Amino acid sequence: MASPTCKVLCPQCRTDRILVITTRPLENGNLLRRRRCQDCGHRWYTHQSREYPLPPGAVTWSNDQPTVDPVVFSRRGPKPGGRRPGPVARGTANGAAVLTEDDVRRLRELAANGTSQKHIAATYGIAPATVSRIVNRKLWSHLP
Ligand SMILES: [Zn+2]
Repeated sequence: MASPTCKVLCPQCRTDRILVITTRPLENGNLLRRRRCQDCGHRWYTHQSREYPLPPGAVTWSNDQPTVDPVVFSRRGPKPGGRRPGPVARGTANGAAVLTEDDVRRLRELAANGTSQKHIAATYGIAPATVSRIVNRKLWSHLP
């Protein structure tokens, strides 16, 4: 029977006698590990993803062997800029949005104080037409 754990092997000599020297959390919640081979002394980094819950139905069992459905698995979360079914989320919940709600409030404030829409567009890295639509409440209409 296969080992239930996925063993880390030395990329140089393939031994499994590996020491973890340091473990550091990354900003995105993943882990970075510095490893050292006890046999050949090779040092390298490994990267471990943060654990996250799988959606219902993602795992099926057959002969005591779990399989993760790649289709269900891929639904585990919104991809940046990816297409998702269902209604389009508004504002910052929409992955395509460049602006935050604070940006929009500030942007409308600037426009109200007489800053040109062209200047605002350059400041926020968006099209002048977008600024116009935000100021005229065609976009971000759910914000006061
Ligand atoms: Zn080694």
